Amino acid sequence: MNMGKLMDTDLLFAGGGLSGLSLAWHIETAMPGRYRMIIVDREARVGDDRTWCFWEKGEGPFQAAVIKQWDRLKVLGPDWERILDIPPYAYRMIRSSAFYALVREGLAAAPGIQFLTADILGLESEKDSAVLRSSIGNLRGRWLFNSALRPDIPARRTRTLLQHFKGYFLTMPRSTFDPDVPHFMDFRVEQGKDVRFVYVLPITETRALAEFTVFSPRVWEQQEYHNTLQDYLGNILGIKDYVVDEEEFGVIPMTDHPHPLRTGRRILNLGTAGGRTKASTGFTFVNVQRHSAAVALSLQSKGHPFARMPLCHKRYSLYDAILLDVLTRNLYPGRDIFSHMFLRNAPVTVFDFLGEQSRFHQELQLFASFPQGPFVRAFLRVARHRLGL
Ligand SMILES: Cc1cc2nc3c(=O)[nH]c(=O)nc-3n(C[C@H](O)[C@H](O)[C@H](O)COP(=O)(O)OP(=O)(O)OC[C@H]3O[C@@H](n4cnc5c(N)ncnc54)[C@H](O)[C@@H]3O)c2cc1C
Repeated sequence: MNMGKLMDTDLLFAGGGLSGLSLAWHIETAMPGRYRMIIVDREARVGDDRTWCFWEKGEGPFQAAVIKQWDRLKVLGPDWERILDIPPYAYRMIRSSAFYALVREGLAAAPGIQFLTADILGLESEKDSAVLRSSIGNLRGRWLFNSALRPDIPARRTRTLLQHFKGYFLTMPRSTFDPDVPHFMDFRVEQGKDVRFVYVLPITETRALAEFTVFSPRVWEQQEYHNTLQDYLGNILGIKDYVVDEEEFGVIPMTDHPHPLRTGRRILNLGTAGGRTKASTGFTFVNVQRHSAAVALSLQSKGHPFARMPLCHKRYSLYDAILLDVLTRNLYPGRDIFSHMFLRNAPVTVFDFLGEQSRFHQELQLFASFPQGPFVRAFLRVARHRLGL
């Protein structure tokens, strides 16, 4: 398709991955047929390019795409382990093919929604509309939702780590896994001056996703993830006759650089581009759903999409920056921080905290379980930076 002149719509989406599709779905579900939408992406997202895991209370909007859920999780270290009972939360897994199919089928049934495949070259916010420049021409929308173009992250006065991971979907010839208890964080892999753990998410007794995850400034060579996974599976879990039938690799930025939610009068940034990736954990899925629901509600009740972030967001962004500071400057081993957190606190308190749903008194209890020196030093440094000193 070549669009010599501007093509107009109500809602324009730059990026049709997790956050673009989620928001379109939330808006269309809340107000069927109310808005014309165009979703632009360089590729039609359909396959298994991601496996999303997240914890949630009650049923979420995409429960039909959940392949497996657990209400107990195990955390393990070299000489400790603990089973976490997490109700009222459930830890859930969604494979992206199921999510894309569910959302795309729902949106395709709406007459006013169109998908375009094109490279996005730039976005401009004007007074009453926004323009998306693409390889097949320009588009104009009353509101533009961007999850495609991410801001550059300056190195100065911010803390950034990469969460990089390689996962194997394993199939076993015989019953091997306990499908009721995943290894949520298993620190029994060789540790360095970074954070390293494996999680093993059993879908059945013979099938599981084993993923080796590192928080560090740089991504590794593929062979290094492979070596660690092979060593973990063979020497720690004691399983050798597995077949790897799918692989997953990903890199998620963990940064306290404030990503603006808004660019100009007409562009709202979503997903990782809009700062919805939690800086200290990389978890994004639930934040995207909460943000999408709030944006849909704002459009419905106020006629604009700029939903206010909850006030507590600032508090959590400070906590994230402090933890990132401790980790980036190696003030205290990451493995020990997580073990203190899981061994000395009620599981639900930890998940409330990591999911930004905790009360201040729970947070004080949690902080009391951390080593004070490194965290106070990190707090002072983050506070200095935030005050511009
Ligand atoms: C492998 C993997 C596993 C993950 N697992 C989890 C998890 O378990 N739990 C969790 O909470 N989070 C997880 N995340 C983090 C996060 O949920 C995902 O990265 C999520 O996809 C982010 O959503 P998004 O909409 O911001 O970005 P995306 O889903 O990546 O969507 C952005 C879209 O923009 C398009 N795009 C980008 N640039 C252009 C351009 N110039 N022109 C046209 N199109 C463009 C891309 O093709 C893409 O479709 C994972 C991430 C990865 C990579």
